[in-house]
Order: sequence, then C-alpha cells, then structure tokens
Amino acid sequence: MSPIAEPSFRESVDLMFNRAAALMDLPPGLEEKIRVCNATYTVRFGVRLRGHIHTFVGYRSVHSEHMEPVKGGIRYSLAVNQDEVEALAALMTYKCALVEAPFGGSKGGLCIDPRQYEEYELEQITRRFAYELAKRDLINPSQNVPAPDMGTGEREMAWIADQYARMNTTDINARACVTGKPLNAGGIQGRVEATGRGIQYALREFFRHPKDMAKAKLSGSLDGKRVIVQGLGNVGYHAAKFLSHEDGARIVGIIEWDGALYDPEGIDVEAVHHWIVRHGGVTGYPDATHTAEGGAVLEAECDILIPAALEGVINLANADRIKAPLIIEAANGPVTAGADEILQKKGTVIIPDMYANAGGVTVSYFEWVKNLSHIRFGRMQRRQEEARHELIISELERLARHMGDGWSMSPDFKAKYLKGADELELVRSGLDDTMRFAYQSMSEVWHDRPDVEDLRTAAYIVAIDRVAKSYRAKGL
Ligand code: GLU
Repeated sequence: MSPIAEPSFRESVDLMFNRAAALMDLPPGLEEKIRVCNATYTVRFGVRLRGHIHTFVGYRSVHSEHMEPVKGGIRYSLAVNQDEVEALAALMTYKCALVEAPFGGSKGGLCIDPRQYEEYELEQITRRFAYELAKRDLINPSQNVPAPDMGTGEREMAWIADQYARMNTTDINARACVTGKPLNAGGIQGRVEATGRGIQYALREFFRHPKDMAKAKLSGSLDGKRVIVQGLGNVGYHAAKFLSHEDGARIVGIIEWDGALYDPEGIDVEAVHHWIVRHGGVTGYPDATHTAEGGAVLEAECDILIPAALEGVINLANADRIKAPLIIEAANGPVTAGADEILQKKGTVIIPDMYANAGGVTVSYFEWVKNLSHIRFGRMQRRQEEARHELIISELERLARHMGDGWSMSPDFKAKYLKGADELELVRSGLDDTMRFAYQSMSEVWHDRPDVEDLRTAAYIVAIDRVAKSYRAKGL
C-alpha cells in the first residue's frame, strides 16, 4: 500500500468511472445509477472450532443488476472489507459488460487467513458462509453466482455447490449456483488456467496492433520480450508459464511476498513455482538473484510488467519510478487512480484490469452455460466433425494417388486435422475470441476519439455504454 494518502480502492474505481462518464452523453441521473453499488450484505456467523465459538464476518456486494444473475468471486483474506468488496463488485459489472458475459457485477469476501485453519475447519466455515448467503439468495443459479478469487479455489467452490444442493434438493440447475468447480463436481476444462490464459491472449492481441504497440514504443512480437511478474499465484503463474513456454517471452523478474527473483537471462517459471509450493516463498531459490526488497524489482527495466497480486501496488509512492512501457493489470486495481495519471503522462500504456483479467469470468460463463445445458461442450459434434474430416482426407488421398509420387500429406497435419475439438480446445477458442473482440472494441474507442487518451477510459466507455443500454431497454 502507498505510504502517501490516496483515495480508497472504491474511490479510485469511482474516479476512473467519472473520468470516462464525463466524456459520455448519458441521460441525467443514469451515470449515478450505474456507478453506485446496489446493495452490500454483511453476514456475521459463528462456527464452533477447537472448543470455541469463532465469529466470522463475510460480505456479498451486488453492484449492478442490469443483467442477472450477478457474478463475481469470493475472496478469503484478512484484508477484506466493505470498501474493497464494493470496488471489486463494480469492476465485475464493467468487466462482464466489456467481454459480453451476460451478468451483472457482484463480489464477496470473508475476513479470514485460510492458512490458520485445517482443511476440515475451512470446510465447516465455508459451508456455513455458503448457507448464510444461499438462504438470502446471494448464491443462486439465476440470481447470484460466485466463483474463486484470492484465497479460494476449486475446493471451496465444490463445498459451496454441495451446500447449495443440500439446501435445494429439487433444483435441477443447482450446479450452476457457483463456477470454478472441479471437473468432477460440474466444472469445466480450462477454468483454472483461464485468467492467466486470458492475459496471454490479451497480450497477443495487443501485439497484433502496430499503432497500439507504437504508443508503448514497442515493436515486434512477444518473442524475446522481458517480463516482470508480481505474484506467482494462480493468475501470475499461468500467465508467466504460457508467455515463456508458448510465446518466447523472457521472465526476468518474479516478485513474491518474501522478496523478488531477478535474472536478465530469464527465470524458469516452473522451477520457481515448484520451489514456492515446497518452501512457501522464493527465498533460497538457487538459480536467480534474490532481493529481500521485492518492490525494487517492480521498478526494474523490462518491456512488460504484470502486477498479478494485490490492489494498489503501483501508487503515488512508486509510479514515477516504474520503467515498464507496458503494464497489463492481471490483478484487480493494482494501479491507483493517482498512479494511473502519472503513468499516463509518462506515456506508459496500461492494459486495464477490467479487460486484462476477464479470462476468469469468461470461462466461468462457459461453465455456467454447461451446467444449465447439462452437457459437456463438444459431446454431440466431435465425432461427427472427425468423420467429415476423415471424408476429406480420404478423398484428398485418392486424388493424390492419381497425381503420383510427391503428393502426400504430412502425417502431422493429418493427425491434427482429423482430431475433433474437445472441451478444452473449445473453451480456449471461445476465450481467445472473447479477448480479441473485447480488445478491438476498446482500442477502437482509444483511436477514434481524440478526447480518449488511454485504454482504461476507452474500456470504461464501452462498458458503461453497454450497461446504460441495458438499463434503457428495461425502461429506466
Ligand atoms: N474472481 C474472478 C474475477 O475477479 C472471477 C469471477 C468469476 O468467474 O465470476 O474476475
């Protein structure tokens, strides 16, 4: 957090919203209606653990119900508070609108340090929290659909889904009450990697736009680009892994809670990930230079900076020392409104959170649709697709036999072409399409309107416009 007094996270989101709304022609009053959080519920509940009754405080904030269900993760952290949950719920509204996921925005949180509890205790706490929310319809397949966020994952979502099913034994759509579930409990392939995968697709799309690259004074492709990642959790790890293994990017810095690793030649992401799993942090990792003061690496030379941990890490205290020409916000709200202005003046290009990390909710949307349709994607058409490809291949082979020697198909091509798409491939294809399309809508506004100076404002304009149209269609 910044040592200099700055607006709160929620105020920061509101400031960014206002900057965009001022450039729009919204009917009087609609701007405020869209900006404010509709409702925030606080639940306090007791759980008997280790012979004592522990009281927990949890929140579920509903920002906008212009579309239902509302959607957004549940976070487990001691830092959870109403202001934060409301800011995150607002971002979910804009995020869903930008990537055309048909949801309103919501977010939840529980004040807890999950590392302090045994698994069976966490299950008890989660089930009780889920009960409190579900009985108020704050978990419900058609009204409010949570998902994982910081401190939660597949395991917690499975407990929540089961708790809801126990309370709603005749609801045939019960599984759609939460997303991010394990595959064997109604989840979907590719959900765990989705947010990191989305970062990769977002960057690939950015590097397809020479005009946008020029604004960041970057050229070429992702190949060889120097990347610094802050936070090697689920999102940071997958983004760094895909960018280095599949696009040739060089991960030169990894920042974690106990310091940072730096190596200009590139760091082996998989090896660091395993080290963290075994040792709890990056300290002692042998194949890169360790700095105890991790924040310094945030300010190191690189081409792309990926803050993938907490909000507010780039703030008034360090913004003018950030050297990266391109920042992609994998976390929600990592750049404060004040830092955003400083960076913009410096010419830094920021790919904003509401777009950059939308991969998670996009694949959640696919999971929800899968749950409601009660069938895995690709189940009906995969073999039929393969049979049709087989037809083409055998016809081409027949023709090739007529043409004589030298006309044969490479076995690699044949194998790839013959294989029908499975669920994972379909999910990735849908995510890629979503990320490309959303980037284009945002980038168009950035280039076409001289009064729009950055991608974030452009993203807000696209999102607010869509939410406004929804409200207008409802007669507001
Ligand atoms: N917690 C994630 C986010 O902030 C995912 C939300 C969801 O899948 O609903 O976008």
